Order: sequence, then C-alpha cells, then structure tokens
Amino acid sequence: MSTLNRREMIQMSAACGMGAVIGDAEFSEHALGVDASPAQGTSGASPIQTRMFWTWDHSTEWALNRPGAHTHGSCNEYGRSTDSFVQDYTALLRWCGQHQIDAVVVWGLLRDGHGGVESAKRLCDVAAKENVRLLCGVGLNAYGGVYYEGNSPHNLERHLEAHPELLAVDAEGNPLSFTIDLNGKKTPITTKGQPGPRGFYQACPSRRENQDFMAESLGWLFKNLPLGGVQMETGDTGICQCKLCRDRRQHSTSDFSWLSWEDMGLMYPLATNAVRSVAKDAWVVCETYSHPQPHHGPDKPPKFGDTMPAWAAAELAKFPRGVFVQWVADYFMKNGEITPAWTAEGRVTKGDHRHVMRSHLATSWFGNRGELAVDWLANLVQRSIASGFEGISLFGEVSPFHAGAELNYLALADYGGADNHKVDLDSFQQRIAAPLLGGADNARDFLRFARLLSDRGKIPAALTSIYGRLASLPPDAARRWCWLANQLASFVPLEP
Ligand SMILES: [Zn+2]
Repeated sequence: MSTLNRREMIQMSAACGMGAVIGDAEFSEHALGVDASPAQGTSGASPIQTRMFWTWDHSTEWALNRPGAHTHGSCNEYGRSTDSFVQDYTALLRWCGQHQIDAVVVWGLLRDGHGGVESAKRLCDVAAKENVRLLCGVGLNAYGGVYYEGNSPHNLERHLEAHPELLAVDAEGNPLSFTIDLNGKKTPITTKGQPGPRGFYQACPSRRENQDFMAESLGWLFKNLPLGGVQMETGDTGICQCKLCRDRRQHSTSDFSWLSWEDMGLMYPLATNAVRSVAKDAWVVCETYSHPQPHHGPDKPPKFGDTMPAWAAAELAKFPRGVFVQWVADYFMKNGEITPAWTAEGRVTKGDHRHVMRSHLATSWFGNRGELAVDWLANLVQRSIASGFEGISLFGEVSPFHAGAELNYLALADYGGADNHKVDLDSFQQRIAAPLLGGADNARDFLRFARLLSDRGKIPAALTSIYGRLASLPPDAARRWCWLANQLASFVPLEP
C-alpha cells in the first residue's frame, strides 16, 4: 500500500472518480416502480433508454473564463465561487434539457463553500424546469456522506469526529482516515473541525449507529431538496476490517481491502429504503465499481473496474428492485476498442434492475480530458447494448465550448436512440458531426487528426492541413477546428 500513489489510488476510485434492450414489454418501468415520463428518455424501443452525466463539482467548468476549476482528481477542495458553481451547473443542466440527457450526478453537491442547501435548491429548480434529474452523489461509508463538506450534522466527517469509535479500521486496528499526496505519502488525519481538502474518511458499515446516521441523513436530504435521485457508493478507498465486518463478510478475507460487494449488499437496501420512504419516485443509482464479466479461477481481492466474483451475484440480488446498477468498462477497453476479455458472459440480466455502463473516456483518469471519443464511445455503447445495458453514463465536467467534449456529448445523446439504434459511427458523422465541422470529408478528417495524439510525429503535417482549411470554413466550424489544432499543437514540444 505504501507504494500506491495518489493518482493510482484515485484511478481506482469511482466516487473519487459512473436490463437488456429495454423495449421488452416484460421490463416495464411501471412494474419497477420508477418514473416513466417520456422526457426521461423512455421513448419507444430505442436500445438506450437512459443517459447520464457524472461530475465532481470541483472539476466542472461550464461557465468559462472564471478561476479555480480542477482539471483532474476527486475529493478535491472547491476552488471556485458560489456564483460559478451555480452558473456551471445551470449551463450544464440546460444543455442536458436541450439534448435529452436524462440525469446529472453531482459529487460535492452540498458544501458550505459554494452555498450549501441554498445553491442546491437553485439547481433543483433549474433541473425541474429542464426536465432533467439532478442526482446527489452520496458516499454511504465514505466521501463525506450526504453533506459533502461543511459544518452540517449530515456530514460524515463531523459524525466520525464526534464518534471516533465508529470509524472504520484497517487490519491492524488503525483508523482508515488519511490523506495521500501526489508522491504517494499517506498521512493519517488527526486534525479536527477544519475545512478541506478532506482526505478519505471511512465509517464502519457494520455499526448500527452508522447505518442510522446514513438513513437519517438521506431522509433529511430528500425532505429538504426536490432532487431527482441519488447515486450512492459504499466506498472504494478501503473497507473496514473490524471483527464485526470480518465476521459479516463470508467471502472477503482481510486482503480484500479496497471495496466490498458484501458492504454493497448490506448498505444499498438500507439506503434505498431511506430514500424511498421520503421520495418514492427518486432514481437510485448503485455503483458496483466492477464489470459484469465473471471471474474464473481462484478468488482474488477485487479492485476498481475488476471482474465480478461468482459469489457477488448473491450480493447483487440484494440490491432493491427498480434501482439502477452502475458498472464500469474502463479496463475492458484498450485504445478505444473493446478487449477480448469482455466476452458474451460479461452481460447483465434484465428483470429486477436497470443497468448503466460508464467509462472514464475523455478524462484524465483514462486518457486526456475533453479529447474526442466518438468512435470509442460507439464501441462502448454497441457492446453495452449487446450485453444487456439500457443506460450509459459519461463524464460531463468539460464545457461543450470545447469541440471534443461537444461531439462526445452529442454522440451520447445520439447513440442507441431513435435515429441511431445500431450505434453507427458513420451515421453520427454524417448527420451530426458533418454540419458542425464543414462537411462529411471534414468530419472524417477531424476524427482522423484527433487520433494523432497516439501518433504524434504526424501532428505537424496535420496542423498545416488544418490551418490551410480554416479560411474556407464557416465561423463556428472554424472555431471547432481551432480547438483541435490547439489541442494537437499542445502535444508538440516547443522550440528550446
Ligand atoms: Zn467494521
């Protein structure tokens, strides 16, 4: 563990880091007790029924030319103003409303530093007006709980400060609360009552007091905010190894130290009941940190994005009926292609749950923030549909002013929808990208040039080609080409 640096750790972390083709009549939303309003992307028999954006507040930058946004990471301090926070997400929610993105997950939604409940209320109003579901990211045993940062009784850090006996512990009995810097140095958190950066706090999920705190906090959240739902996680930055937890987990030895399917099977039903007792129509999205590809061979401790152990199916079956189950595809993709490791066995079953696949495409976690990924996303959505998924989630932190992000978001809105059931990249390029980039030939070149980040010796010639065509393009198309040219040029070393 001592060799694990902050970046590696963060890359493993989802929070610190999103049924089969749903036209089947038997899988009716009504039967699952979830909202089936047409505006929630449930039209007809399109393979993809649900589209989501996943964000951290500190890295979301849709209101341009304002200071303080992070470009990577998770659990960071918030560096922008309250006004920027509200304007960032107002712009984001409006775009979603105009482009049929159904939901936006916000981690760090509630912080004293950007207006707390009042700012969140304003964003709930915008979301309602745009018919988009605003989902609060909530760590059940980690990530600050319901109120991410601040002097709130619903903040997990304050709760654990008041009750240190409820902290999760490692195998040696030491509290699982720490910060880790970019050099990999891990430091126990000993200060109290100070604002962030927060570091990582974990609560013992076996303790009834923590379960009650979580349930009461979720009840408070939905009584005080008209949210569209919640995206919840049990934590993937270390799990409690106390005797209660070890005795409870039937399959996880002490080297299963990062995340726990058994903790999910315990906590998601409790949390879902707490939400639904107040807001019965709320969307509940449960993170698995995993891929549905079954793991064969000797049991091994799961890590972020890993295969699913056979015994985890029993834990998945405990997830409440009607919730969204969120999976991750990152490590089953390479260079934008689906790897052979994702086989026909790696599928989800329709019935009790709605399944959402996500990837960290076009982020610093898994490439370059805001880079063009329309071809990679097509591969992901095609395979996800074939594997039983009805939902796709993508990071939405970058403004669509940046052409790569804009095209990715438009592809998310298009793939698997009414006009593109088969997730055909060429169809997207011709119908949607070409008019924005100066025609079909230009759209094809735009994607071809964007891929030169992995063949950088060809970038100078591409830049010459791009600069040569700018004058003949309409202004908005030229602006998008300027974005690509500058992105490519930034990877070419400057003259000494
Ligand atoms: Zn414990």
